[in-house]
Amino acid sequence: MPDYQAPLRDLRFVMDEMFDFPGHYASLPGGDDASPDVVAAILEEGARFSREVLLPLNQSGDQEGCLLEGGDVKAPKGFKQAYQQYVEGGWPSLSAEPEFGGQGLPHSLGMVLSEMICATNLAWGMYPGLSHGAADALRHHGSDEQKATYLTKLVEGVWTGTMCLTEPHCGTDLGLLKTRAIPTDDGGYDITGTKIFISAGEHDLAENIVHLVLAKLPDAPEGSKGISLFVVPKFLPDADGNPGERNGVTCGSLEHKMGIHGNATCVMNFDAAKGYLVGAPNKGLACMFTMMNVARIGVGIQGLGVTEASFQNALAYARDRLQMRALSGPQAPEKVADPIIVHPDVRRMLLTQKAFAEGGRMLVLYTAQMVDVVEHGQDAAERERAETLLGLLTPIVKAFLTEVGFEATNEGVQVFGGHGFIQEWGMEQLVRDARITRLYEGTTGIQALDLLGRKVLMSQGETLKVFTKEIHKFCQAEADNPALAEFIKPLAKLNAEWGELTMGVGMKAMQDREEVGAASVDYLMYSGYVTLAYLWARAAKQATEALEGDERAFYQAKLDTARFYYQRLLPRTRAHAAMVQAGGGSLMAISAEDFGLGFEI
Ligand SMILES: Cc1cc2nc3c(=O)[nH]c(=O)nc-3n(C[C@H](O)[C@H](O)[C@H](O)COP(=O)(O)OP(=O)(O)OC[C@H]3O[C@@H](n4cnc5c(N)ncnc54)[C@H](O)[C@@H]3O)c2cc1C
Repeated sequence: MPDYQAPLRDLRFVMDEMFDFPGHYASLPGGDDASPDVVAAILEEGARFSREVLLPLNQSGDQEGCLLEGGDVKAPKGFKQAYQQYVEGGWPSLSAEPEFGGQGLPHSLGMVLSEMICATNLAWGMYPGLSHGAADALRHHGSDEQKATYLTKLVEGVWTGTMCLTEPHCGTDLGLLKTRAIPTDDGGYDITGTKIFISAGEHDLAENIVHLVLAKLPDAPEGSKGISLFVVPKFLPDADGNPGERNGVTCGSLEHKMGIHGNATCVMNFDAAKGYLVGAPNKGLACMFTMMNVARIGVGIQGLGVTEASFQNALAYARDRLQMRALSGPQAPEKVADPIIVHPDVRRMLLTQKAFAEGGRMLVLYTAQMVDVVEHGQDAAERERAETLLGLLTPIVKAFLTEVGFEATNEGVQVFGGHGFIQEWGMEQLVRDARITRLYEGTTGIQALDLLGRKVLMSQGETLKVFTKEIHKFCQAEADNPALAEFIKPLAKLNAEWGELTMGVGMKAMQDREEVGAASVDYLMYSGYVTLAYLWARAAKQATEALEGDERAFYQAKLDTARFYYQRLLPRTRAHAAMVQAGGGSLMAISAEDFGLGFEI
């Protein structure tokens, strides 16, 4: 069975040494509660819970899957008990607002725990994971009554949440949705329609499920401007706020899917189900975006979690598995062969995983600080800056970390050779589980359009400049530091190139809008590599300064990994830049009718 140790030392490096989280927490209102001791205790307990409770259920959950019986869905064995422990441990309320029963700790702390949960049991993690987004949407857009009725239950974790957007004919293009909301005399709405692919849509972990559903009012404008958001509980709360009458929402079937088998992906039928409007009529998409932004970063963290899990197991295997001798001669002459970790190509795979896991952790925590500032920052200018950066980085966190997460889990299989393909080692499960992260919450293609189109070009590049200026300042400050020259020189060059590439696409897009779509995914990947290069340079600076201390091996490895990232992964920017610049001509030339096959499909 795969093992997992929460990367507590690396978390300390990133949180305390790179980003001064103790200072950051102290600057937030109520941040005193997140004292270093409390943070350390929470992380250790989270590490224990994920390793001892969630990890043992990961493979069994994958093999067993969920079961639909008479409309009820049973999660795999042990999932319910693990969820009870999670609720009893107070985990759901960790970073929720005290006025709704939360502990008021910073959001970033919840995000760190999320990584551990995703690393040990991605499928299980989606049951509580969606509740955070639902709670956030209600907190921002719900009425006082809705907050009192639903939010406190979601925060306690006794009820879970879902997000119901997708329908059979519409996923990306929600303007096409058909689910209807008809006003009723009691001020509510009858919701009728079918939603598909609803994660945790039905299950036996919690006593009630709060669906947040997108639907159209009878007089709604066409397209995405006519979408409203409704809260639709599985059981209608009674006068005391407890689950009462069963609502008209049921699970029609469960999807059979490639991965995350332990999570129930449901077809949900709404049959004149009682719903209540959240926010203003026809403004549902904006309300849902509150939920989707939280969820997008959450999916990026899923990419990070599976990367770390795959890396740790591949590393252990590579130390143990004996095959062939090192090219330079036996490294373990007393054994029948050398462990495969001596082979450069195996090291290439392990270091790719390590560089993405540790770099991804830096990116998540860097972004997590912005989430805290946006929510609780005291200074308006700081909040605005954090909001801008968060907007820019969210599609990068979501799409880049899931793209490289999929690559990293695949490399994990490769390190195991044929054994990686065999179920019992758990490495192929990580690939299957990772695959969905590139799809849901907006595919990589859609994140890329969001980044290049909405965030960068629509702001005339101003959003990007906020970030590139920060990188520029860092490069300037370290320009005369010989220990960092190998990082700062290429970083400064790439940072300048990032702006030039953006201008180039922007100019082309003025002639032909399709150029944005043609460049977008390569632009996103380029942006991801440069973002990680900035963070790896900062890590290298930190490591260089600590090299002479007691933990030389840790810091030396950090520096070596930074070097690997710069020498072996960052050159991928050359290909992405070339593809961004190539334009859309070759993509659009072939006719859509037969795609040059000579026959129609
Ligand atoms: C396991 C699982 C769990 C899910 N959980 C949920 C959930 O809890 N709630 C929920 O509402 N949904 C959920 N989804 C749905 C998921 O979010 C959608 O599948 C996803 O958004 C893509 O929509 P689609 O499948 O309809 O693909 P489509 O929208 O049909 O897209 C197909 C392809 O076309 C591309 N494409 C589409 N439009 C454009 C464009 N304008 N430019 C460039 N490329 C484009 C896409 O990138 C994609 O590659 C889940 C899906 C799965 C498989």
